[in-house]
Amino acid sequence: MLIVGFFEGALEKAKEVLDCAEKKTNEVVNTSKLRINADTLNSQISKDYETLGNIYYQLVEDGLEPAEEAKELVSQLVEKNERLVALKKKIAESKGNVVCSKCGFANYDSASFCSACGEKLK
Ligand SMILES: [Zn+2]
Repeated sequence: MLIVGFFEGALEKAKEVLDCAEKKTNEVVNTSKLRINADTLNSQISKDYETLGNIYYQLVEDGLEPAEEAKELVSQLVEKNERLVALKKKIAESKGNVVCSKCGFANYDSASFCSACGEKLK
């Protein structure tokens, strides 16, 4: 009962934040929504690494081969990390930055070449 109340409270808070965000300009909303998505994905990835670590730890301790669930988790992590890279690119672009297609560095919109690797941007 107490836990349900806690989650309802958290949901209300999240809704308030979103309502507040909707009053701001579109650009800001888009960026903050992307940020929330990136943060959520980031914490999911951290939890997955933790779960994966626990599974491997247990397996090594028992002298066993990596289990199917561990392999499945690795492929999920690869996919989530790719999504996170794409999200970070969108966040940089929503701020007017140009993301280098070669190294992923967020350059100023006016830049013609990547300041990290020298790749031509336009
Ligand atoms: Zn670059």
